[in-house]
Formats: sequence, structure tokens, C-alpha cells
Amino acid sequence: MPEPRRPLISGNWKMNLNHFEAIQAVQKLHWLLPKDVYETVDVSVHPPFTDIRSVQTVIQGDSMELILGAQHCHHDDSGAFTGEISPAFLAKLDVKMVIVGHSERRQIFGEDDATVNVKLRAILKHSMTPILCVGETLAEREAGETEIRVLSQLSAGLDGVKAEQAASMVIAYEPVWAIGTGHTATAADAQAVCSAIRSAIAARFDAATAAAIRIQYGGSVKAGTTEELMACADVDGALVGGASLDPDEFAQIIRLAASS
Ligand code: PEP
Repeated sequence: MPEPRRPLISGNWKMNLNHFEAIQAVQKLHWLLPKDVYETVDVSVHPPFTDIRSVQTVIQGDSMELILGAQHCHHDDSGAFTGEISPAFLAKLDVKMVIVGHSERRQIFGEDDATVNVKLRAILKHSMTPILCVGETLAEREAGETEIRVLSQLSAGLDGVKAEQAASMVIAYEPVWAIGTGHTATAADAQAVCSAIRSAIAARFDAATAAAIRIQYGGSVKAGTTEELMACADVDGALVGGASLDPDEFAQIIRLAASS
């Protein structure tokens, strides 16, 4: 029997919270969460780069079980890439998970599937876990192209990745039209796409990899929508943007996921 997948709730703070605010947010979140919550759920926080060292110090200093994450990185270890951040630097700060291919990076900063793939492999090379975001735009959804779009992003993102690497990865299904808009996919729609992703993983690798890989839903997740999402067979957690900035709301999402 394969191990049951542990839910993963990830907070993507985007470009919000300076390092003082980040310290306060992490401390409050830790205080709000009962210790036993981590027995059944993993929780990652993804602060802006300038906050990471401060958040790392707080997490380690207070022996918190929160997982430190990042939102993005470059694919090279070092070099003439003004303004970029090396995955090696993140690994040195004990960053464990890195979001890659977020739709804001794809749409605003022009990251294409090939760029996402080299970053993803760089993250794996440094023994960090990529959270690969895939998702369709509203126009693609309305044209009935959700699955085609999501599965092509998935396939390109996983180019050159081995089964044992994929098994420990996280895929985040994030419909672009649901991110930061207050619109959220129905649980049935989220389940259908997450199930298609898992089937594609089984076809590309094998059943064991598909059973192990974690698939999150992201897009305006709030405490009020968490229970029905977590009840979906192929939804193993959530990538939470706006609601993760409020420790009370984020803690409630985590508690609900822990008891799902
Ligand atoms: C995100 O940033 O990945 C996200 C899903 O944002 P929000 O929850 O605000 O829609």
C-alpha cells in the first residue's frame, strides 16, 4: 500500500510584508497553530527574498515546524545576472521549497515553459522541492482548452525529470482566472483537473510516482472553501496567496486541512 499523501498548505506572500512584518506574521502563525497540526499537514511559507534570512532565523531559533520556501529563482548558480537570485543561495538559507512557473512570473515577467523547466531542474539539483504551477487563462477555459493547456505546461515543466525526482515534487493547479480575483474553481472542477494531472503523471512515469506526487489547488482559496477542496481525492493541499497574509485566516485554512 502506498503511503497516504500528506496535505501541503503553502502561503505565497508575493511582494508583500517587509522583513519586520514577515517575522511578526510567522510568529503569529506559529502561535495560532496547535503543535499537533503538523502531525497531519505540512505548511510552507514563501516570503519575498529580502525576508528569507529573517524568517529562517525565527523558524530555526524557535524550532518551528514551518517549512521555509521561496517564490522564484534563477537557474544558474552564479554569474552576470543582475538582480537575480541563485538557487544555491536559497539552499544555503535552508529554503526547502521553491515555487516555479507561477502565472504572475509567466504573464508579467515573460517566463515560458522552457525557462520554467530549467529553473525546476536547478531547484531539484540543489535538493529543494519545486512547486510547479500550471493553469489555464479564462480565454483558454472558455474555449474548452483547460486540460490541453495544463497538461502541456506539465509536460514541458517536467522535461528531463526522473520518476524518483517527480515523486517528491508538488504540482499546483492554479487557474489564472482564479488567482487574486476572488473567483475560485468549484471543487468538482479542481478535482477533474487534478485527476487529469495525476493520470498524466502515471502515463509519463508510473503508478507509484502518480500516487506519491502532491497536487495542490490554488486560486482565491479561503477558509470557507478549504473543506470542500480538501475532500477531493486528488487535491492534496492548497497554494494560498492573499489569504496567507492574514495569519488568522491562514491558520484556519491549515487547521481545516489538518482535520480533513
Ligand atoms: C497565488 O498567489 O498563488 C494565489 C493562488 O493567490 P490567491 O490565493 O490570492 O488567489
